[in-house]
This record gives sequence, structure tokens and C-alpha cells, in this order.
Amino acid sequence: MLNIEQDKSLVNFNTFGFDAIAQSYLAVTSKAELTQAMAYIAQQGLAYQVLSGGSNLLISKYVAGLTLHMQIKGVSVVDENDEHVFVEVGAGENWHEFVEFCVSKEWQGIENLALIPGLVGASPVQNIGAYGVEIKDVLVSLKAYDFEQSRYVELVNQQCGFGYRDSLFKHTQGRYLITAVTFKLNKQPTINVKYKALQDYIDKTVKKEISIQDVFDAVCAVRASKLPDPSVIANAGSFFKNPCVTQQQFDQLLLEEPNIVGYSVANNEVKLAAGWLIDQCGWKGFSEKGVGVYEKQALVLIHTGGATIDDLLDLARKIQQSVFDRFAVQLEIEPQPFPLLANSQI
Ligand SMILES: Cc1cc2nc3c(=O)[nH]c(=O)nc-3n(C[C@H](O)[C@H](O)[C@H](O)COP(=O)(O)OP(=O)(O)OC[C@H]3O[C@@H](n4cnc5c(N)ncnc54)[C@H](O)[C@@H]3O)c2cc1C
Repeated sequence: MLNIEQDKSLVNFNTFGFDAIAQSYLAVTSKAELTQAMAYIAQQGLAYQVLSGGSNLLISKYVAGLTLHMQIKGVSVVDENDEHVFVEVGAGENWHEFVEFCVSKEWQGIENLALIPGLVGASPVQNIGAYGVEIKDVLVSLKAYDFEQSRYVELVNQQCGFGYRDSLFKHTQGRYLITAVTFKLNKQPTINVKYKALQDYIDKTVKKEISIQDVFDAVCAVRASKLPDPSVIANAGSFFKNPCVTQQQFDQLLLEEPNIVGYSVANNEVKLAAGWLIDQCGWKGFSEKGVGVYEKQALVLIHTGGATIDDLLDLARKIQQSVFDRFAVQLEIEPQPFPLLANSQI
């Protein structure tokens, strides 16, 4: 018997802390429960959506249909050799706790991704990344329920369509519900501290050979100094993606804005720092109607209380317009609408 709750408040399940009501809600704690839920959804012709840690969402005030809150746990070593360990992790495991666990085992590969909020099952959705590492670098495969084929499937890394803060899962309108992810981690550490802020912190604090634990500690310290803790100031991390322009556009921008921040990526493109663009337009520290721009990092929009998602989107539009007017660059919003439109219209 499924324990489906009606008219459930999601205010504590989204890090922006917006009031939202789910028409129906189910905490999914096992694959058996999920299979039962799938049969129920098909039988009732319901709309559905998948919720994990709620740290990357633009949540609607009313979420129609059934909200499946992923809580399937489990961490197991499925294979290993002298160099690598292969670990399968349930979608409902907390991401940061899993990173901590790997660091304690001296398994290297994800310590640069410490302190990213959310659950393991959502990590491939936007190919989470920080400090020079992305989930695609360590993900071997994942297990998912495919709503289109009405069966469980396994996708290997190359089938996931990973890009910058992007994957197949953002373009298939909720077709796949990820239940577990398998990672390949190194037993022979290769330390990655290419990012200046990390390197600076380590230079100051570590006087011996750098360990995985040192990198983890540096990432946690640097992040804590720049990003607001969602349990203190409601936010969803970076609100906009760093935009890419052509090298030609970048050269033109450089003529007008000699201090513009950008670095070359593939396909003759240059990635710009969205936070810098927003900061130049004077938004850092701005606030109105209970929403605002974080005073230490212009890329982070915050909810200080009493606002609605519409207030936040109004502010986002104003920021996008001012950046476009000054730099002719369109900023794209990173958090996902919840529910996804196509899905909720089923
Ligand atoms: C303070 C802060 C800092 C952050 N820093 C970073 C950062 O450095 N790098 C980065 O990449 N992100 C960052 N984020 C964004 C966010 O933490 C990540 O995107 C995270 O992976 C979202 O996980 P979640 O469990 O909260 O997902 P949710 O917000 O619950 O869901 C996000 C999307 O994934 C879908 N989804 C969730 N679970 C599943 C599943 N099991 N199967 C299929 N679809 C699913 C949802 O339907 C939704 O569309 C940050 C957020 C905050 C608040």
C-alpha cells in the first residue's frame, strides 16, 4: 500500500524556501515502492515529477499530480582492482555525505565537488561541477526507470549527453527517473587543485604533501567563504549559467570592457563569468520584495522571506535585461522549473 499524502507542503523541500503545495506526494524509499508507484501512475494517468534535495528548483506554488520524493539509499562497492574502485550509490543518498565517505576511504575523484547540496540521483541531471571537476569525469553508468518504455534501464556515461551543467535528462522532460549511479574512483590519488582559490588556500594551510583530505578541506573552506548556506539564507546556488560567446564576440567585448573575465573553451568559444557581468551592472547586494542578489557573490539570488517565485523571476528578468543591454549577452537560468511544463500537462 503506497503512503501517498495529499496537499503536502513542499516549503521545507526546496532550498529557496518558497511556499508550494504538492497535490499528491510520495516519499520513495525502495525500488519495490517505486515499481508500485509507476503502476499507480500509469493506471490513474497521473502527471508526476521527481524531487530530490530541492536545491536546484524554481518551484511552482501548486505542483499538480504526484511528486515522487527520492529517498532510495545504499552505497556498495560493485567492483575493484589495484587502481580503481567502482561504487554504486542509491539516488536518495546525500551527495556531500557520499563525498565525505569517499574521502575517508581515500578514494579520489569527487573531493572537488564537496559541499554541493542535493542528492546523488540529481547529480547527473545537471552534470554537477565545481573547481575543475564534473560528475561526467567519474560517472560510469546509472540505473533509471524509463517512463517511455515503462521499464528499468541502464545508461552508460556516453549515453547521458553530458555538457556544461547539462545532460540528456534536462532534455527528455522527466522521461528518466534515476535510481542509482555508479562511480569510478581512484585508489592512486591524482590531486586536482588547478583553481587559483583552491591553490592559494592550500599554499597557506598545507605544509606537507597534499592529500585528498586537504583538497576536501580547502574546497569546503573556499565554498563556505563565498556561498551562502541555504539553511541560513535561502538560495539555489548559481542562478545563471556562465554564458559562452564566440572568440570574435569576446574580442569585441574586450575593446569596450578591458577587464572582462573569460576563458577559452572548445569550439572557438569563450566562457564568461556571469557573476562578473551581473556585478558590473551594479546588482550585488540589491534586494526588493524579499528577494535579492547575495552581497558576496552576484551569481547567487536569495530569498530573504515573504516573497513568491514570481518576485524572484521578476528580479531575474531585470538582471538578464541589464546584462543584455550592456554586454549583448543573454543569461540562461540554471535551476529547473518544477514541475517541468510538458510533464505537468500530461
Ligand atoms: C548553495 C548551493 C551551491 C551549489 N553549488 C553548486 C555547484 O557548485 N555546482 C553545481 O553543479 N550545482 C550547484 N548547486 C546546484 C544543486 O546543488 C545541484 O544541481 C544538485 O545536483 C541538485 O540536487 P537536488 O537533489 O537538490 O536536486 P533537485 O533540486 O531536487 O532536482 C533538480 C532537477 O533534477 C531532477 N531530478 C532530481 N532527482 C532526480 C532523479 N533521481 N532522477 C531524475 N531526475 C531527477 C528534478 O526533477 C529537477 O528537475 C548548488 C546549490 C546550492 C543551493
